[in-house]
This record gives sequence, C-alpha cells and structure tokens, in this order.
Amino acid sequence: MRGLAERSDTDSRSMTDAGGTYGGPMSAPRTPALRLTDKHGRTAYDLRVSLTDKCNLRCTYCMPAEGLEWLAKPELLSDDEIVRLVAVGTEILGITDVRLTGGEPLLRPSLVDIVGRISALPARPAVSLTTNGIGLARLAKPLAAAGLDRINVSLDTLQRDRFVALTRRDRIDDVFDGLQAAAAAGLSPVKVNSVLMRGVNDDEAADLLEFCLEHDYALRFIEQMPLDPMHGWNRDMMVTGSEIFDQVSTKHVLTAAKADRGSSPANLWRIDNTEATVGIIASVSAPFCGACDRTRLTADGQIRNCLFAREESDLRDAMRAGATDEELAHRWIAATVTKAAGHGIDDPTFLQPQRPMSAIGG
Ligand code: SAM
Ligand code: SF4
Repeated sequence: MRGLAERSDTDSRSMTDAGGTYGGPMSAPRTPALRLTDKHGRTAYDLRVSLTDKCNLRCTYCMPAEGLEWLAKPELLSDDEIVRLVAVGTEILGITDVRLTGGEPLLRPSLVDIVGRISALPARPAVSLTTNGIGLARLAKPLAAAGLDRINVSLDTLQRDRFVALTRRDRIDDVFDGLQAAAAAGLSPVKVNSVLMRGVNDDEAADLLEFCLEHDYALRFIEQMPLDPMHGWNRDMMVTGSEIFDQVSTKHVLTAAKADRGSSPANLWRIDNTEATVGIIASVSAPFCGACDRTRLTADGQIRNCLFAREESDLRDAMRAGATDEELAHRWIAATVTKAAGHGIDDPTFLQPQRPMSAIGG
C-alpha cells in the first residue's frame, strides 16, 4: 500500500481544504483514493514536473544550438498552479514521488519556494531534482533546507573541451562546484547522470566512474534516446548499456546489486564487492516499460503518460476554466488509461515525440 491508501478516507483534511489552500476552487469532500492506473495495469506513483523549457546549456542530444522557441510566459504554469496540481497528484491520486526537472529547473527563480511548498503538503511526497548543476553552488543549501530529498546532476564528460563541444557552453567548473555544494548540503548520495555518445565521450565510462567513486557520487549511465529536436538519433550509433557494462568491467568486478529492480529504470551493479554501485539505464536496448510508474506534467500544464507519447492531455486550461480538484484528477486518470504498453522505439512505425526532451521534462 502506498500513498493515500495508507490514509483514511475520513482524514480530517478534506479536499475542500486542499482547494482553499492551493488556490483552487472549493471542491467536494475527499472521495475515496483514486489511482493513476492504465489499461495495462500499471499505476503511476512517480510524477516528473517540468518547471521550465529553458536552459543555460545546449546539450547536443537535447537541444539545437539555436532557434528553439520558448513557451510564452502566460502558457507556463504559475507556482500556485504547479503546487495545486502536485497536491491533486499526491492527495487524490496516490503520487508518492515528485521530481522537478526541465529544461533547467534551477533557472526558475521561485524553485526554492516551490520545493518548500511541495515538501509541506500533507501527503508529503519524496522531492527530488534533476539539474545540470549550474547555480547549484548557491542553491544547494537553500534547497536542502526547503525539503529537497535527493538530487541528480547531469555530467557527461570530465574534459573541458568535450564539455564545451557537448553542451556548447564553457561551464564545467560550475557543474563541479554544484556537485560539491550538493554533497556539502547533505543531499547525499548525490547522483550523477551520464549519457555516452559514440565518438564524443564513449571512452569515458571508466573515468566518470573513478571520479564518482572518489567523490562518493552515485553514477548512472543513461542510453541516449531519440528525443533530440534535430532528429539526429541513430540506433546503430547509440552506446548500449551492455557496451557500457563491458567497458566498466575491464576495470571492476560488477555483480548485480538487486535481484529485482522493481520500477527503478536503473540496473544497479555492485562494484568490486563494495557498497558502491553503478547504474545502467538501458531505456532503449532493454526497456523497462512494463514496470513504468511515471507520469509527467509539462511546464505548460500538459499531462504526458510517457516520455515518448505523441499526445498530451490538458490540465492547465481546465484548471484556469475553474475545474475542481476532483475534475482535474479524473482528467489525469483519463490521460493515464491510454498509456501505451511500450515506447516502441524498435517498431518501424515509431515516430519521435513532437516536443524535444527539454520541453517534455527529462
Ligand atoms: N537540465 C537538467 C539536466 O540536464 O539534468 C534537467 C533536464 S534534462 C532533459 C534531464 C536528463 O535528461 C539529463 O540527465 C539529460 O542528460 C537527459 N537527456 C536529455 N536528452 C536525452 C536524450 N536524448 N537521451 C537520453 N537522456 C537525455
Ligand atoms: Fe539543458 Fe538538461 Fe537539455 Fe542539457 S540535458 S540542454 S542541461 S535541459
């Protein structure tokens, strides 16, 4: 039993309170707990919220060098709207984990406040953040104090010139500083996300691992997915999870850290029989769609039931037109039911989603 199921339906805090607290219209007293369950029987507990589509880097696998149009300010959810929808997710729909992402979430000026408000929700979810680390040197402490539980920092290379080529910005020192600040703020274990690309940084698996072991960061390699706006992804060029495993195995003995990874996308490997682990997220070559427990809210208030979904369901306009929390919850459920069984990347009919990763929220 997770989330709301552990709470009684006679909980003293009714949804009427929730509507008032989060700025939404007054709604009926709490109904029995609902669930975000799809037609294949999977239930979403993990909500990814994109706080902005903007970014201060231009990673080649995520964004074009220039020319991407940003969402106009009125299209973006306000802080109150974000917190209200998260509250609908946690209090009515059983969401237990909320990850804030983007674009670059540290670019949202009110981020610390948003983290504080989500952490203070009565059905408090675990709150985590995925960031490129730029600005974290200043924000890590306030974020931890506001209630942030976990953090993932993306870093694909340790080499300055490669970082510049890969992100089109000379900011690697900011990322190193951000990582250190996150650890110092107690956001441990700090996780590092790395995407390897052939001919770019595919020889760095071992170096990235040494760096993370040395600093006590938990490394996760992620296979590159077809989510770039330039549509330059190519299956044959992708560095696969098994290649990464082989590369790391030339230096370390890897043993499975868990018999069953549950809904976690990472296959976790214990390093040299120590407590340290490395994760490999083989989203493309070994999809984990059957155990997926994610749902996504874009920065402009659209629900996506999958990273690769080609359809989105609006909550923003419904909310602005006066929908109650229960009505929003039912819209969210309707958007979930139709979730496809798998991402279908290997299917000849596969089409990339219209929005790039930066706009969906990674
Ligand atoms: N800007 C933040 C960051 O970079 O961590 C958060 C958003 S970013 C879209 C979230 C994660 O998605 C990052 O770890 C990034 O490396 C990953 N990502 C972006 N595009 C990707 C792609 N095409 N394939 C695999 N991972 C990707
Ligand atoms: Fe920005 Fe993150 Fe995309 Fe890189 S991966 S361009 S840091 S949103």
